[in-house]
Amino acid sequence: MTDQIRTTDFKNLQGQTNKFPYLIDVDRAEGIYIWDKSGKKYIDMIAGVAVTNIGHRNPLVLDAIRQQLDKHLHVMVYGEYIQDSQLALAKNLASLLPENLHCSYIVNSGTEANEAALKLAKRYTGRHELISCKGSYHGNTHGSMSVSYNEVKKSPFRPLLPAVKFIEFNNIASLEIITKETAGVILETIQGDAGVRVPTKEFMIALRKKCTETGALLIFDEVQVGIGRTGSMFAFERFNVVPDVLTLGKALGGGMPIGAFISSTEIMECLTHDPMLGHITTFGGHPVICAAADACLTVLKTENWIHECETKGHILETMLKQNNEIVEIRRAGLLFAIELKSAERVQQIVERCLEKGLIGFWFLSCPDSFRLSPPLSITVDEIELAGNIILEALRETSTETN
Ligand code: PLP
Repeated sequence: MTDQIRTTDFKNLQGQTNKFPYLIDVDRAEGIYIWDKSGKKYIDMIAGVAVTNIGHRNPLVLDAIRQQLDKHLHVMVYGEYIQDSQLALAKNLASLLPENLHCSYIVNSGTEANEAALKLAKRYTGRHELISCKGSYHGNTHGSMSVSYNEVKKSPFRPLLPAVKFIEFNNIASLEIITKETAGVILETIQGDAGVRVPTKEFMIALRKKCTETGALLIFDEVQVGIGRTGSMFAFERFNVVPDVLTLGKALGGGMPIGAFISSTEIMECLTHDPMLGHITTFGGHPVICAAADACLTVLKTENWIHECETKGHILETMLKQNNEIVEIRRAGLLFAIELKSAERVQQIVERCLEKGLIGFWFLSCPDSFRLSPPLSITVDEIELAGNIILEALRETSTETN
């Protein structure tokens, strides 16, 4: 089968998300590298969009998957049977989280985790108003889309959830809209797809205070920024503010599909009655995926990668700052938004990097920046290699456009 036939089949037989897919024809992946079918090797500076934080095919994750395969696959819908890997993952998560976040419910994706968290807030408070933040992205199902901000992406799918309001990112005065009518406030602890926006500590503390005063549940969405990505296991640790509900996804699965919403046993308990089965899922907590996620957390606890995240991020940031075409670098740990003077320039750089064997990517709501989110397992040598490739791409294409 020729490459052309594979591309045509991909485009005709698989539902497409856009007109310009990357079309890397993947052969295999290991650590921070992906190889295509022609043997070309890419440095993966995206990690499947902040998923493979521990690198591709971590051996401990593979072992955990193999061991679980030898025991059982799906045996029952979530919440009925006691399954070793589910319980181990719940214990592992509880060991890493504050007391009020000891009860985890495993689902299938980030967006499902957010859907469930929004339902939990409504059910627990008996209120229906939801508040989110301008610039946010929380997923692509109807509820998550309702609390996401990008109107261009939302409007064709209206009507969405009613009673959703938005606070301004980092604007303490805007917190006034949170009242005793509010069921929950959902916020990306650090905004990812808005182009890496880190809120101030003051804003986060004021937000926590307002939610406590009004009885609204504070939900932190760490689907993208959790699991070590920004230099701590959970991004909220840097603000000294603890949410009532935490959602996770992406990197938690060590390369397998997962989501989780996590709260106190007391809050979570309300999903068991009035009505019972307040959130249900057939495949949530799948034993193989929980085994992978449990191993992934153990890897991150054992390796020093989270602690090295800031140093490595700083090295790459310093290198890239040598190029004065870069307008701004926004960074949290190993999550980068590199802003250039236009979206066209971003496209040129990302494409040139790809030619040179380095994978970068776009943001959903920040066209004049490109994204870097390499595996946390990347070494300093590899960071330097990647930095040099990006600098070369900037230099080469800049000569071409002049
Ligand atoms: N929340 C945030 C902050 C995300 O970045 C994403 C995905 O990019 C989601 C939720 C949705 O996760 P998923 O694509 O697994 O549904």
